[in-house]
Amino acid sequence: MVNNSLKSSRRGLISGIGAVGLGAALTACSADDQGGQGGSADPTAASTDAAATTTPPTTATEAWDRLVEGNARWAAGEATHPNTTPESREALLDTQSPWAIVFGCVDSRVAPELVFDTGNGELMIVRTAGSTFDELVAESVVYGPLAIGTPLVVVLGHQHCGAVTHAYEALHADAEDDDPFDEIVEAIEPAYEAIEDTGEEETDVEAMIRANVLLVVEDLKKQPEFADPIANGLEIVGAYYSIETGLVERVE
Ligand SMILES: [Zn+2]
Repeated sequence: MVNNSLKSSRRGLISGIGAVGLGAALTACSADDQGGQGGSADPTAASTDAAATTTPPTTATEAWDRLVEGNARWAAGEATHPNTTPESREALLDTQSPWAIVFGCVDSRVAPELVFDTGNGELMIVRTAGSTFDELVAESVVYGPLAIGTPLVVVLGHQHCGAVTHAYEALHADAEDDDPFDEIVEAIEPAYEAIEDTGEEETDVEAMIRANVLLVVEDLKKQPEFADPIANGLEIVGAYYSIETGLVERVE
């Protein structure tokens, strides 16, 4: 049985953040900002990349496409590390226009700015073990869409997630409650309940990782504060990162 009632109570009302719409666009950075370590030797390609990274996406589709492009560079070993110069940092002194929220895991191998080859001022990042959340964390996820008009939220699960693996092992063994990570296990339990426990740990954990992503997406969509942003084009999507390939794919 999926323990939605408990999760709903723990993930209750979020309030107090006013919608102020999109902030000012990012101040354009000079082409020198985008030279990039390891970028293309083709100057035409480099300038195209510079233009792409200085104009923030304004729709969910544009934002997802930008993430996919950056992830492809990361996976191919061709990351450009945009928006990392002192000049680009100073340009953001009084403004920011992050164009996606990534709600991911604390795992050191899954840093969103690296995985999506983005730089300063581009992404808002919320990270907890296994993307678990309560009311406090949920407000951090809601902040970008509600206060800044960020058009996309990505819940990012990943291969070999230790939090989900621990939850699987604890729940599979029906362990006693002296677990120091019992809150995390409790939060991930609906994903365990959602899969067929085959007893094959690797198979089950992978299924749980994807199930957990989808459950978190659905829980976020139910947050009352997301109603207006969703009506205005906000998308909340699930994704999975393969440490092995470096690639991110949608989970649907
Ligand atoms: Zn993880």
